[in-house]
Amino acid sequence: MSAVLIDGKAAAAELRAEVAAEVAALPRAPGLATLLVGDDPASQIYVRNKRRLCVEAGMRDLHRHVPGDVSQGELAGIIDELADDAEVTGILLQLPLPGQLDANALLARIPPAKDVDGLTERSAGRLALGTPGLVPCTPSGVMHLLDRAGVALEGAEAVVVGRSSLVGKPQAQLLLGRNATVTTCHSRTRDLVSVTRRADVLVAAAGVPRMIGPDAVKPGAVVIDVGMHRLESGLCGDVDTERVAEVASAITPVPGGVGPMTIAMLLRNTVLAARLAGEAAVPAVEGRVGAGR
Ligand code: NAP
Repeated sequence: MSAVLIDGKAAAAELRAEVAAEVAALPRAPGLATLLVGDDPASQIYVRNKRRLCVEAGMRDLHRHVPGDVSQGELAGIIDELADDAEVTGILLQLPLPGQLDANALLARIPPAKDVDGLTERSAGRLALGTPGLVPCTPSGVMHLLDRAGVALEGAEAVVVGRSSLVGKPQAQLLLGRNATVTTCHSRTRDLVSVTRRADVLVAAAGVPRMIGPDAVKPGAVVIDVGMHRLESGLCGDVDTERVAEVASAITPVPGGVGPMTIAMLLRNTVLAARLAGEAAVPAVEGRVGAGR
């Protein structure tokens, strides 16, 4: 292997320690309200980890668990309650929701100042406009890893494979915000390999196991693998890591790459939300909030 491994586990631990130090310096510990609807086993694990690391960072765990047959109106009422509660710094509505619920309509009730997942229309709009706001955790985690690895973004060719609201679109906007020349690919992109081979920085977020092989990577490129797949053979990402590492200059492993950064950025967003709430009277916000720098 010639590529340097970008260690997301170490970066996340470092960031969580920074967050814990910031929390300790705040007059009141921020409160994170994770909202879990129903008993989906994967969601239960994700929420449990978020709560555990929230407490480890010194924040208050204001978790709410709601039965899976809750109505849209009832859940909307709970979100409104959390939105109005001064004890709640950040609200995280764990997705996906049971089929009877309209996730977008519910997300829209989360005030932008408490939108620590950065997934509401208003947060997405702020990111698109380049105005301060809370940014989705996985793509801001990717930016943090790139910065920590010292990757130059200004003027670089960046290619993002995937255009979801959760990862691909905000990722492309964050890279654009750092003056990369960005191309976004998706399932209808023609000759994907010829596009990805242009990339100095390639972010794979298509959700297709090991779809990015060495032929799709420019020699010396930095490759970030957002994909996460649980196969019988074990965990893997969207990148054929072993073979791509022979071509790339740096690469994130799966597991231990982007994955650990997502919760670390959620905790960081919660501290930023607390700071913003405390500074609500101060109009100017320095730089983009939650951009992972
Ligand atoms: P998603 O909503 O399914 O979006 C996948 C995107 O990839 C879509 O835009 C799709 O294009 C595109 N795509 C699918 N197949 C493609 C192909 N063959 N060639 C080019 N583009 C293709 O998935 P997501 O939520 O963005 O997640 C992507 C991956 O990241 C998943 O593996 C997920 O598990 C992982 N993930 C990891 C974390 C973490 O914390 N590590 C967090 C979030 C997601 P169309 O728009 O044309 O359909």
